[in-house]
Amino acid sequence: MRTPLVAGNWKLNGSRSSIKSLVDGLLSGISEVGQTEVAVCPPFVYLNEVNQMLADSAIAMGSQDVCAEDSGAFTGEVAGPMISEMGAVFAIIGHSERRSIYGESDELVARKFAAAQRHGLKPILCVGETLEEREKGVTEDVVARQIDAVINLMGVDALENAVIAYEPVWAIGTGMTATPEQAQDVHAFIRNRIAEKSGNVAEKIQILYGGSVKAANAAELFAKPDIDGGLIGGASLDADEFLTICKAGG
Ligand code: PEP
Repeated sequence: MRTPLVAGNWKLNGSRSSIKSLVDGLLSGISEVGQTEVAVCPPFVYLNEVNQMLADSAIAMGSQDVCAEDSGAFTGEVAGPMISEMGAVFAIIGHSERRSIYGESDELVARKFAAAQRHGLKPILCVGETLEEREKGVTEDVVARQIDAVINLMGVDALENAVIAYEPVWAIGTGMTATPEQAQDVHAFIRNRIAEKSGNVAEKIQILYGGSVKAANAAELFAKPDIDGGLIGGASLDADEFLTICKAGG
């Protein structure tokens, strides 16, 4: 039995004061969330502050990215040791915005995955197809390629300490959610693909759905057998909405 996980990706949003209100709202309602693991992923500059606000709470923290290198002449980057020192336990890796806007290749994403794990961060590896790829019928090929890049570098057992987020690019921030059936089909494909290498890892790994999840559609998505929670963008910026989504995880 997999514990559901709901993680909020705050993206490039927030200020000291808005983040304080958001975290206060989350802390006041978190005790009503059942078994679901809950995490928030603030922008790097707020990690330390958010970690202090979350101290001793049931809410974990993650970063939205990690540098593939651990230190050195990489201006503007933030490295795994720094992120874990700030109290993060998760790191989102290979979000589609990083892949498409910043040109991150599968190979770089795999190196970032390795960097996160080197420093005790659990990668939330994002995979997913564009609308064009879905219409061409290559969704499974794309998702398999993205996952294989990590398996080829790290071995399948590395996924034992990771989370996968299936996020169809056409559903992110667009209001267009994959139907629960469409999402379940891809989640089952991902689990089967991992099972070809390790049944044990496939059975254990949490596979989250992301893409316009809201309080109104979370429960039917999370009810599907291979959907183990969600990675939530826009709706994670509203404490009540996000907590309702967390409760839908069980
Ligand atoms: C995301 O950024 O990972 C995401 C799923 O965004 P949204 O929920 O806004 O579609």
